[in-house]
Amino acid sequence: MARKAFVDRNTCIGCSVCNHEAPSVFVELRQDPEHNDDFKSFVDENSDHEAVADKVGEAIAKCPVQCISWKGTKAAVAQSEGKA
Ligand code: SF4
Repeated sequence: MARKAFVDRNTCIGCSVCNHEAPSVFVELRQDPEHNDDFKSFVDENSDHEAVADKVGEAIAKCPVQCISWKGTKAAVAQSEGKA
């Protein structure tokens, strides 16, 4: 299983930094009814996140509340980080 970027919307503050870094992954910033209609970042689960892994990495590094992470198999994550 390839990695996918994950946004913890409980923590996201809707700043749009991730959307600017990787718009094909962090496709939308919209009001989230599950969080008092605050603006939150939404990920396109169907796009190829690995293809823009550098950009996702930039988004992870620049997110002011550190709420973006990779999800996927441990093996896939370790391999992509050069640990496997
Ligand atoms: S950079 Fe982080 S806080 Fe800002 S919109 Fe993206 S996920 Fe949310």
